[in-house]
Amino acid sequence: MKNNGWARRDLAALWHPCTQMKDHEQFPPVPIKHAQGVWLEDYDGKRYLDAISSWWVNLFGHCNPRINAALREQLDQLEHVLLAGFTHEPAILLSERLIRLAPAGLARCFYADSGSAAVEIALKMSYHYWRNLGKSQKTKFITLTNSYHGETLGALAAGNVALYKETYAPLLMEVISVPSPDCFCREGGESWADYSRRMFTCMEQALEKHAGEACAVIVEPLVQCAGGMRMYDPVYLTLLREACSRHGVHLIADEIAVGFGRTGKMFACEHAAVTPDFLCLGKGLTGGYLPLSAVLTTDEIYQAFYGDYTTRKAFLHSHSYTGNPLACRAALATLDIFEQDKTLEHNQLLARAMRDAAVQFQDHPHVAEVRQTGMILAIEMIKDKAARTPYPWQERRGLPVYRHALEHGVLLRPLGDVIYFMPPYVITPEEINYMAETAYTGIDLATQD
Ligand code: PLP
Repeated sequence: MKNNGWARRDLAALWHPCTQMKDHEQFPPVPIKHAQGVWLEDYDGKRYLDAISSWWVNLFGHCNPRINAALREQLDQLEHVLLAGFTHEPAILLSERLIRLAPAGLARCFYADSGSAAVEIALKMSYHYWRNLGKSQKTKFITLTNSYHGETLGALAAGNVALYKETYAPLLMEVISVPSPDCFCREGGESWADYSRRMFTCMEQALEKHAGEACAVIVEPLVQCAGGMRMYDPVYLTLLREACSRHGVHLIADEIAVGFGRTGKMFACEHAAVTPDFLCLGKGLTGGYLPLSAVLTTDEIYQAFYGDYTTRKAFLHSHSYTGNPLACRAALATLDIFEQDKTLEHNQLLARAMRDAAVQFQDHPHVAEVRQTGMILAIEMIKDKAARTPYPWQERRGLPVYRHALEHGVLLRPLGDVIYFMPPYVITPEEINYMAETAYTGIDLATQD
């Protein structure tokens, strides 16, 4: 069957995520038959460069031979077993390895099956820790504007992107919202570090005012991804770590999107040499193969839950597929590749190639900013560059870029007016150039009035 046939059957049976299904009357979904490396291939034989790592999950290309081999081996050993009362080699090895890799002081791994679930766990654990210590007045979370932590109700409440949150507001817990250090909003001539430091005063004030009732501050370290790839300086994390400790409030680092090398280091917190109280991981954890997430925390927090059953201190949260052996094995194979291929070093070359390929965008009359942190590069379209007037959101300027790129064999998925690249680490400099050229002509097209 060709694309048409699959698309027709799809539209009769599926309801797709993050989609106004009516849009598919004009643009049917693209059925993918096969993928290899950075390339996806549909049923008509057309190929698409996956410039966004299939929602930021893929690290070492699709159908990676090394991850495939590890999974085949695991399939013949053990596909799944519950993780309560039982355990298995892949989960043990992965926990040991993540603890070794993560910022010093994180000593325990708790597994789940999606990023949102990891965020729920970190929020619940933080609250429950304070309750176990007799501080049950601590029930609130501090969060940054423009942040995104997932779509389940707790994670949605912790996030702050109106597009996802507004509709469900009556269902959500209240949070304390602090203006983001988003450096797109800095004054002309102000450095990222200066702006991030200046914006930290809002966080300091919030902590001073709310420390008594706050369990934790939750942030996406360095890049607010779903919020339009808005970026800030590591100094913010340094100040935040110090202030959280001083005020007796946990720090939750949601590295679900930015972990595993996206920012140039294994974990974004390393840029500021800080250890959060909770580190949430997901997406790239399995190289983009299988749903798995993890929350790493300290021994001190773990100990607050440890006691006789009748004390009712235990953390009773669970998901059926928690710590699935296949997913853990894919994660181990992914970490092997990081080691064997010296990926973080190699990525410096790729990040430079991305930067060079994006220089051309700076002078475009409808590009407000080109920004980059490691392997994440974003280009922000704007209506009026001088006056910094955005396009009305109803105009959906990102859509023609998406359509144009697909036609030319590149999968971009703009966030509003922000076009970004977050490719798998097996992309070549030539493919980076092609991706950038295609984005450029797409932006040209989308901004012609
Ligand atoms: N946290 C961050 C920072 C994310 O970017 C995402 C997803 O994009 C999530 C949490 C939610 O992860 P998932 O989609 O696996 O539930």
